[in-house]
Amino acid sequence: MISVEEALERVLDYVEILEPERKSILDCLGQVLAEDVCSTVNIPPLENSAMDGYALRAEDTRGASESSPRYLMVVGEVAAGSVPTKKVGSGTAIRIMTGAPLPEGADSVVRFEDTDEVSRKSSGGDPSQIGILCQAKKGVNVRCRGEDIARGGLILKAGKVLRPQEIGVLASLGCSNALVIRRPVVAILATGDELIGVDQPLTPGKIYDSNTYTIAAEVSRYGGIPKILGIGRDSVQSLTEKIDEGLDADMLISSGGVSKGDYDMVKDVLAEHGEVGFWTVAMKPGKPLAFGVMKKMEGGRREKKVPHLGLPGNPVSAMITFEQFARPAILKMMGKKNLAKPAIRAIIEDDVVNTDGRRLFARVSVTRRGGQYYASVTGPQGSGILTSMAKANGLAVIPENNKGVKAGDMVVVQMLDWGEEQGEMRTVPVVSIVGKSQSGKTVLMEQLVAEFKRRGYKVAALKHGRGGIEIDQPGKDSWRFAQAGSDAVLVSSPGKLAYIKNLDHELNIEEIMSIIDAEFDIVLVEGFGKSKTPKIEVHRKALGDDLLFSPRELAAIVTDELLGTNITQLSWDDIVGVADFIEKNFVLKKEEG
Ligand code: AMP
Ligand code: MG
Repeated sequence: MISVEEALERVLDYVEILEPERKSILDCLGQVLAEDVCSTVNIPPLENSAMDGYALRAEDTRGASESSPRYLMVVGEVAAGSVPTKKVGSGTAIRIMTGAPLPEGADSVVRFEDTDEVSRKSSGGDPSQIGILCQAKKGVNVRCRGEDIARGGLILKAGKVLRPQEIGVLASLGCSNALVIRRPVVAILATGDELIGVDQPLTPGKIYDSNTYTIAAEVSRYGGIPKILGIGRDSVQSLTEKIDEGLDADMLISSGGVSKGDYDMVKDVLAEHGEVGFWTVAMKPGKPLAFGVMKKMEGGRREKKVPHLGLPGNPVSAMITFEQFARPAILKMMGKKNLAKPAIRAIIEDDVVNTDGRRLFARVSVTRRGGQYYASVTGPQGSGILTSMAKANGLAVIPENNKGVKAGDMVVVQMLDWGEEQGEMRTVPVVSIVGKSQSGKTVLMEQLVAEFKRRGYKVAALKHGRGGIEIDQPGKDSWRFAQAGSDAVLVSSPGKLAYIKNLDHELNIEEIMSIIDAEFDIVLVEGFGKSKTPKIEVHRKALGDDLLFSPRELAAIVTDELLGTNITQLSWDDIVGVADFIEKNFVLKKEEG
């Protein structure tokens, strides 16, 4: 058995970035640009008006107001798309529409609303004049030439993933097409004598082929082009025929036929006409997984190699192995750099056991409440229960060396519907230091804060102030504002910010976290034992042998004597060890996920 990382590395070693193609920008969404795009034009190409109004010289409006308008002679009109034929001279103005080029001589535009145009029209006033009702600042409502894009500048770099806004930028440069890395064609094969197509009536002993459809949809979601081969039967001949049909593709994905069953022969075919990379991975679900290359007939010999991923047949296993291996392979072929599935840290709401030493991907539904993510398991987790995936928006990842997690533990969750370009969405991890009074919680907090600062983290410390808060001192201005009834008082100075909010009940940690800045790498809490956040209890021999919390509520104990319990015990004297434990278990490092 090999690890998930090793399997992924081997898959990615086999697949290569595809060649670029030039195509209409309308078809490029989500593809990676394969050329630097420089601008050959200025955008906007000319100085133009940002408003409907009058183009004029700002100096002609000096002192203008509603009670004392400045009157200018209207010498012309210019609409968007046309070129002004007249100049603006002293004492004159030209009526102008948004986007129309600014006439020579004008330096500003006054909006219609700041002129007497409407009242002049309704009262039958002289249309060859306009009254300006405000003093214009030079340059007002004028868009400068090249202010969006300057000619000659590098606008989009090769490697950029094209989103709607980049496609718009290309269009605004006059590029109707772009050079982008080609989308991979992925051939999809279902295998099994028990399968029938969704357009056939169901007969005894048969089931509908669902994997073809989930996999095709996944391929499209990640930017590939699915090529459906249909259902291969459990015979070497049928499979070989089908696989040969798929060898024009850039990758072949089959499902089923890779486990230990008698009729499971995908791996045999693979071994005969290609090379088997591996076929078991330390993950659950998804242990039986084949990867290899199929050799394609070329000039009478099997030559060209097409990467082949043989997913397990169980619908959930097929999807989860697709996510872990096929998805990054497709993204790599498309030239994408972010291959990691976006992950968050969440508090798991159910116990999950993981007894067989493989990495467990539990289907979870993630919600965000009070600034924290919570993950709850979506019912029965059998690898054939596809509705467990339909109800899920995340996969909680329980490491292979972890026997399981308890409700309340922090877990890493891959977010199924988040785009890779989103990168890592951070939530701030919270760890509470709890313990009996006089056990040394504050000392431990102090040392941990200093240790995390030494390690380069941004740390917030939260203290449970039972007896009130001592920073709003009577007599201070801030106190006077509070006395006057303001619901919150903020005191800002060049070096510090304090936020004092009146409460009618004490907030729980989730509520507090929702107002804490996301910039912190960790929040260390003293107390708040009732919260569901991970807790470390400080234990001192001198205060008795019992613990304040039951071991199942604790992540670890920091103690000055060895206790008879099987949860992690850290030495009171070893602050580096305590910080290591917190860092390893709770702080999501940049390279993770
Ligand atoms: P296998 O890996 O071929 O032993 O298949 C494992 C399980 O997945 C069996 O119960 C199959 O019936 C089921 N299965 C295999 N392929 C598909 C498919 N394309 N659609 C739905 N279920 C499948
Ligand atoms: Mg089968």
